[in-house]
Amino acid sequence: REPLLDVRGLSVRYEPRLGPHITAVDDVSLQIREGEFVGLIGESGSGKSTLGTAILQLTERPGRISGGQVLFEGMDLAAMDEDALRPYRWRDVSTVFQSSMNALNPVTRIEAQFRDAIELHSSLRGAAVTRRIQELFDLVLIDHRFIRAYPHELSGGMKQRVNLALALADEPRFVLLDEPTTGLDVVVQREILENVRALQEQQGFAVLFISHDIGTVMDLSDRILVMYAGRIVEEHATDDLLREPLHPYTKGLLGSYGDPRQETVRITYVPGRPPDLSLPLIGCPFAPRCPERIATCLTDAPPLALLPTRGRAGGVQALAVDAGEAWEPPRVA
Ligand code: ATP
Ligand code: MG
Repeated sequence: REPLLDVRGLSVRYEPRLGPHITAVDDVSLQIREGEFVGLIGESGSGKSTLGTAILQLTERPGRISGGQVLFEGMDLAAMDEDALRPYRWRDVSTVFQSSMNALNPVTRIEAQFRDAIELHSSLRGAAVTRRIQELFDLVLIDHRFIRAYPHELSGGMKQRVNLALALADEPRFVLLDEPTTGLDVVVQREILENVRALQEQQGFAVLFISHDIGTVMDLSDRILVMYAGRIVEEHATDDLLREPLHPYTKGLLGSYGDPRQETVRITYVPGRPPDLSLPLIGCPFAPRCPERIATCLTDAPPLALLPTRGRAGGVQALAVDAGEAWEPPRVA
């Protein structure tokens, strides 16, 4: 079946007038199928938000999509002009961005904004719309009395949650969740995200979920993408990733945890620092930090390859760096 979202060789550069130009997303390809919940992890600055934004064609200057394609149900989004994109963006796609508090119109009651969104995309009317709004407020754990409020009457954390509910009100086909609950109480975050997952299973929309909280990503996602220095370095079904992480960076991220699903953990520390993205990358970008590197890693980046894993289904495959036949048992160079 054709994927809902097919990202092919996408690259994004930031080209500020002052300061170095960088390649924040470097030749990324990924696919998301209808109804799939996909997690995206990687340390700060690895390009997760830049990738998410570019997928929705919302890249802003000084950023620029410098290569690749994004196909939504086979349609090339970059080839569509703004007018053609607008209905697509709001009908089929919803977003909750890291630190974006501005989807709500400040001068309109929250109820009216939800009513408009729901009536635009469904046949619900009247009391049925009210019930739907109440369900969405339940989902984000907000008291119904705030349905009648104006946005300014809400605290920052409540606004963030109402934004999340509004993104889901449209019955989208694809939702980008970029740290949608950051800053909220950890227990509340978990409960809201579990509610989102339950709704996702019920309605069947696809999700790309970006978070620093590896435990929650593992718990909720069917599949995990691992990003490092603007590249996807591993792509793996969640269970298999936990059982058999392939890329040394992934092993570093997961290494300190038993089963991260059992606890709330944040990406903390893989020794060393990511490469300077303003310089051309020579060799594997992770090589300087890699406990498994061999001499050639510093000069030749091993290509991504489909690798058979010993995972659950036997035939399940993972996308990871593969040095091929020449790969020696790892030793520290
Ligand atoms: P975090 O986990 O902290 O949210 P991230 O993985 O989302 O990080 P991005 O925000 O996508 O990372 O940033 C990727 C790279 O692009 C970083 O080096 C960042 O400094 C750079 N970058 C992001 N936005 C801009 C901008 N507007 N102008 C210039 N550089 C930018
Ligand atoms: Mg980000």
